[in-house]
Amino acid sequence: MDYRLETRCIHGERRSADHHPFGALAVPIYQTATFSHPGVGRSTGYDYTRSGNPTREELEKTMSALEGACDTIACATGMAAISLCLELFDKDARFVCSEDLYGGSVRIFKEVGERRGFSFSYINTSDVEAVEREIRAHKDTRALYIETPSNPMMEVTDLAAMRSLADQYNLCLIVDNTFLSPYLQNPIAFGADLVIHSGSKFLNGHNDTLAGFVCTSRPELSERLRYLTKTIGANLSPFDCFLLARGIKTLAVRMERQQENAARIARWLQTQPKVKQVYYVGLPEHPGYETNCRQARGAGSMISFRVDTEATAHRLLETVRLISYAESLGGVESLITYPMLQTHADLPQKVREKLGITEDFLRLSVGIENVDDLIADLTQALE
Ligand SMILES: *Cc1c(COP(=O)(O)O)cnc(C)c1O
Repeated sequence: MDYRLETRCIHGERRSADHHPFGALAVPIYQTATFSHPGVGRSTGYDYTRSGNPTREELEKTMSALEGACDTIACATGMAAISLCLELFDKDARFVCSEDLYGGSVRIFKEVGERRGFSFSYINTSDVEAVEREIRAHKDTRALYIETPSNPMMEVTDLAAMRSLADQYNLCLIVDNTFLSPYLQNPIAFGADLVIHSGSKFLNGHNDTLAGFVCTSRPELSERLRYLTKTIGANLSPFDCFLLARGIKTLAVRMERQQENAARIARWLQTQPKVKQVYYVGLPEHPGYETNCRQARGAGSMISFRVDTEATAHRLLETVRLISYAESLGGVESLITYPMLQTHADLPQKVREKLGITEDFLRLSVGIENVDDLIADLTQALE
C-alpha cells in the first residue's frame, strides 16, 4: 500500500521488521570504505563506499519516497548537490534562474559555472511572461532553475507554468526545494526533472550536520548522476547519512509545529510599529499566496521582514537571547539572519538593492520553541 508522507518519513517506502540484521529499527551505520567479494565476478551489491553504501542507500530511498523521485543522490552538502547538477550540462548552456536565489548558488554559478562556459539569467520567475521572454531572447537556454518560495524575498513561482515552458522550449526544470522540504512541496508532481535540497536545513532539522540531495524523476538522468557521483565523489558519509535518516523521521511533526509558530509570529510582526513589512507566503495578502496553495501543502517557517531603521535591525540582532543570530535555517532552534551581510553577501550590491536586501531587512527561521517565548524575545529585542 501507499503510505502517507508522515509514515514515509519514518519507514521510507516500505520496510519490514526484519529489514536490517538483528531486526535493528534504526539504519545501521556501515562505516566501511570497502566491501569484500564472495567470489570472482560476484559482489554483495556493494564494492566501495564512493559508489554505494547500505546506510546511504536507505537514506536515498527514503528521500525518493518523499519526493516521488525515481532516484536520489545524497551529497556532502547542498552546494555539492548543486555542483553535481551543473555537471549534467554541456558548455554554452544557459540557465534562466529565479533572481533571489540562495547566495551560495549565485556564487557557484558565477565563479564556477561561468568558467565552465555556462551563462545565467536572473529574473523574477513569478512573472511567467518574463520567463518566456528571457527564454526567447536566448536560444542557448537549457534549463530553468527555480526556488519557490525564493530566498529571501519569498516570491512564489508557478511550477506548472514553468513545466509548460520547459516542454515548449525543451528545457530541464530544476527546483531547489529546501525552503518547504518534501513534506510541504513535491516539485516532481508538477513536472520538475531535478529537485535539489540542502539537507542541512529542514531535513536534518537539528543544525548538527551538512548534507545535500539531488532527486530526479528521469531514469536517464539518474543513470548519469550515479556515474557522475561515483566519479566526482562528493557524496554523503555513512555517519551523516544516519543523522539525516534520524532527522527525517521527525520532519512531519517539526514542520507542522514550525509553520504554526511562523504563522503566529508573522501576524504578530505585522502589528509591530517598528516593522514596516512582513514577507510570509502564509499570509493571504502575499501576492504568491494562491499559487503557493495550489502547489504546496503549507507555507513553511521562513519569514523575512523590514524594520524602520538600520539601527533597529542591528539592535534586534544583538539583543535577541532565545533566538540566535546565525546563518542557516530549518532547524528546531529559531535563528535570525542578516541577509545583506550573511547569506546574500555575495550578490553584487546593485542586485541586492534592486531586490530589497538592504540594511533594514531581516530573515527569521522559526523553530519549535514555545511561540510565546519567541514572541517575548522579539518584543524585548524590539523595545
Ligand atoms: C543552505 C542552502 C543551500 C546550500 O546548502 P549547504 O548544505 O549549506 O551546502 C542551497 N540552497 C538553499 C535554498 C539553501 O538554503
